[in-house]
Amino acid sequence: KIGPALADDDAPVIFSFEYCTPKPSHAGPEAVLDTIARMAAYGPAFSDVTWRPQPPYPENTLFLAGRMQSLPGVETNLHLTSLSMPLASIDHALATARAAGIRNILALRGDPIEPPIAEDAFTSAIDLVRYIRANHGDYFGISVAGYPEAHPSKIPEGSDRATKEGYESDLAYLKEKVEAGADLVITQLFFDASIFLKFLDDCRRIGIKCPIVPGIMPITTYRNFKFMTETCKTRVPAEVRERVEALKGDNEALGAYGVELATAICKELVENGVRMLHFYTMNKEGPAVKVLRNLGVIAGEDVWKVTIPRQLKVHEPL
Ligand code: FAD
Repeated sequence: KIGPALADDDAPVIFSFEYCTPKPSHAGPEAVLDTIARMAAYGPAFSDVTWRPQPPYPENTLFLAGRMQSLPGVETNLHLTSLSMPLASIDHALATARAAGIRNILALRGDPIEPPIAEDAFTSAIDLVRYIRANHGDYFGISVAGYPEAHPSKIPEGSDRATKEGYESDLAYLKEKVEAGADLVITQLFFDASIFLKFLDDCRRIGIKCPIVPGIMPITTYRNFKFMTETCKTRVPAEVRERVEALKGDNEALGAYGVELATAICKELVENGVRMLHFYTMNKEGPAVKVLRNLGVIAGEDVWKVTIPRQLKVHEPL
């Protein structure tokens, strides 16, 4: 179960990897399981799998999560959204996760689906957190989503940032979510370390005490960068946007820049005392591993050449 071990500021840098359930049109879960198994050999603190409420995603995700949990070195953090999820489906997901030995849930609201596919049991993440605590006690470690730039709904159309009131109400709501029973906050992606560091300070200022883990997305493709930054309304510094636009026709060069940028962001975070990094892997093993190697957090050898999966030595923090 994740949580308490992340609270120690003097701890070495640790990390986690997030994966997406493959689209039903793609090959089964074998390819992503293979990636998860190989990346587990680097010693992630936990490994997330994302959730979508539209069938057949829930059953596919529960199957994948169960298989993940059985892999050596994998502590699964199963995402679960509450919109478009009837109570029976939420109960089924939690019971299936328990039966598979999964101890961690990222409790989310999710985004509305048009037209709606099912009656909502809950309309915000806080209700799901309360429900899990009420029905499963302390069995699950619960994480919740945090938004260093505020949730996109708080960012007015045509603006690149939330109003002060929007940002503050988002923070106050995050505090309520944590007090409802969350152990950990994992954040939305960002491209400027100072945005996360300010958010962290602001969270501490209003009394959010649990670990707050920055979500890092190394840029891999132009399409994904556009999709994620537009959906999440991420502020993109001018020099980053210029580089991405200049490299958009060259996937290899863009990927290398993505690693360079993510390394610089992580380095600034680590130098400012952050001890945990959460990577949006997009089911690719290369980028996150390269960033962790650049930081000296994992050793330089290719672990998939090692026959027995093992925990690699975690270096001293930078
Ligand atoms: P909530 O915490 O319920 O609320 C979202 C926002 O609504 C709050 O931040 C706040 O601005 C506002 N709000 C709600 N209630 C109040 C209140 N009482 N007072 C003031 N403001 C309020 N989506 C998926 O579909 N699947 C995934 O697997 C997934 N994984 C994610 C992982 C991470 C780490 C993050 C950061 C996001 C993820 N998302 C995922 C996206 C997420 O579902 C969306 O951002 C969604 O719009 C909000 O979900 P939430 O759990 O943050 O919602």
